[in-house]
Amino acid sequence: MSYAVKECFLTLQGEGVQAGSRAVFLRFAGCNLWSGREQDRASAQCTFCDTDFVGTDGDGGGKFADAEALADAVAAAWGEGTDRRLVVITGGEPMLQLDATAVDALHRRGFRVAVESNGTLPAIHGIDWLCISPKAGTEVVQRSGDELKLVWPQHGVDPAELERWDFAHHLVQPMDCDAREQAVEAAIALAMERPKWRLSLQAHKVVGLA
Ligand code: SF4
Repeated sequence: MSYAVKECFLTLQGEGVQAGSRAVFLRFAGCNLWSGREQDRASAQCTFCDTDFVGTDGDGGGKFADAEALADAVAAAWGEGTDRRLVVITGGEPMLQLDATAVDALHRRGFRVAVESNGTLPAIHGIDWLCISPKAGTEVVQRSGDELKLVWPQHGVDPAELERWDFAHHLVQPMDCDAREQAVEAAIALAMERPKWRLSLQAHKVVGLA
């Protein structure tokens, strides 16, 4: 199987429980909830995306012929050293492309494999850290994992319902939008009202990392 990758680069994880960790970001092209074209945004299932996942023209992006080539690119992005190798696989929606062969190839190169998904497709086995970020109005089939990241506010999402899903960590993250101040206030309010939720900030944007 071949893989279409928007970008692949070394950075620090900016969000969630593993924020601050050195990681290779592997961003697959394509999403099942939005085409990525601005003219389609209003009618998309997910309307608040802050990510360019279209095409393969980003830093380290391209078409990779097989899992070995993909894993070699991730290892090259990490560079020297085998200690605490971490790859964060995101998108777009990574479960459109990620398969067990790719996960195995990354494991053989010493990587822990973290995945960030919208949860509308079932996650494959073998993932070491699974983060699900549900979107209002979509059918989330993947209701277990390590980290549930709720971008907030989202009309039509009930935090009490999400608390019943099987995740070790529940994080609420202010939506990156024009009404950012209100979103921060709403996220703080949720974490204050419902102690299961912890506030997560996008540290990479604060400090200017990709
Ligand atoms: S599901 Fe994620 S990648 Fe897809 S459009 Fe929404 S925010 Fe963007």
